[in-house]
Amino acid sequence: MDRNRMIEPLYSDVLRRNPGEKEFHQAVREVLESLAPVLERHPEYAEASIVERLCEPERQLVFRVPWADDAGRIHVNRGFRVEFNSALGPYKGGLRFHPSVNLGIVKFLGFEQTLKNALTGKPIGGGKGGSDFDPKGRSDAEVMRFCQSFMTELYRHLGEYTDIPAGDIGVGVREIGYLFGQYRRITNRYESGVLTGKGVGWGGAQARSEATGYGLVVFTAEMLRARGEDLAGKRVTVSGSGNVALHAIEKAHQLGASVIACSDSTGYVLDEKGVDLELLKEIKLEQRGRVADYAEQRGGAARFVPGSSIWEVSCQVALPCATQNELAADDAVSLVRGGVQVIAEGANMPTTPDALRVLREAGVLFGPGKAANAGGVATSALEMQQNASRDSWTFSHTEERLTEIMQHIHETCHETAERYGQPGDYVAGANIAGFELVADAMVAQGLI
Ligand code: GLU
Repeated sequence: MDRNRMIEPLYSDVLRRNPGEKEFHQAVREVLESLAPVLERHPEYAEASIVERLCEPERQLVFRVPWADDAGRIHVNRGFRVEFNSALGPYKGGLRFHPSVNLGIVKFLGFEQTLKNALTGKPIGGGKGGSDFDPKGRSDAEVMRFCQSFMTELYRHLGEYTDIPAGDIGVGVREIGYLFGQYRRITNRYESGVLTGKGVGWGGAQARSEATGYGLVVFTAEMLRARGEDLAGKRVTVSGSGNVALHAIEKAHQLGASVIACSDSTGYVLDEKGVDLELLKEIKLEQRGRVADYAEQRGGAARFVPGSSIWEVSCQVALPCATQNELAADDAVSLVRGGVQVIAEGANMPTTPDALRVLREAGVLFGPGKAANAGGVATSALEMQQNASRDSWTFSHTEERLTEIMQHIHETCHETAERYGQPGDYVAGANIAGFELVADAMVAQGLI
């Protein structure tokens, strides 16, 4: 059957059912474009309507989150949890607190998470949640009250065998602490495995904070290695300056590359001598400052460029680690002109479809987020494993496991792309391999 005739009706159905949810449409479209050859080879998937079922979340929760600020004023936010797919394990995926959060964003993230989690090889299904609450400028006490209110509704849907949230943008170990405390209080259970990304002193895994950024760089190094090249000595740019970006910079430096730029929503900083990570960490984590403060405190070695895109900086490796659709077609054109060889996504879907087309045509190696940034959730699965066995592992043991998982994901994507006649296409490899793992489990488990 003609490929488009197989895919288009499935996509039209998603458009009709989820009006206006453009990020969700984008994420589904990209996956469906990879799947035509799989559906041709496996008629059992179409017979069981696997794609239709995969694109429809198992459950979608939307709830009110009222909370009081420090002056006693009452605010109302909206909370979300989309429990996308549990064929491979309990729903697993982070919570995002950011004013841009809406149902469509959470759905796109939950859809990506389902395939990403499958690629890790761990027994975890996919889900995502969050709120349009903006933590910026809020006091600690306000963040705590918000988290308590959010969990007061969400707790009834969670459980270590049901649904296990973690962090994402705007949710780190502080928020996970407040959420866990409220869950424990309401349920009267010390259920460690119900949330991941906990503090290491109370059930959190070593290396969980580092995992997404570290895993991203390990994946990037593997992509280069498969082409007979080395990450050492490469000139790297990393967008963002949050948890993923900071740890990507750290691992890139450990592997001998030089990260010369990073960014935030106000602009980027260029530091030709290589970013001073200690100073950047101090500013971001201790002072909760901006990259402009880094340039100022670095004293002449670095230059802050306000309001511009970091992708104008020439580099050999680019790691988008900020947010969705941050790298557009014109950025891709500048990167190609600047000699970029590899791009790997630390954020979820940071590259627009038009940008991806530019990169493909130019022959740039491209690591999609659902493979390249899977180290975070993979280490969450390791946290769940430690919690279930009442054990805790050392940093080096956990990091070793993370490295093995990233190498395995790379191998899976690489091999799958070859098996489907698209060697070197990691987008096709990740989409197909993730899909096959979930689809086989769905077929085996019948009509649920
Ligand atoms: N938010 C992260 C992601 O996008 C981690 C999710 C988790 O650890 O459950 O994969």
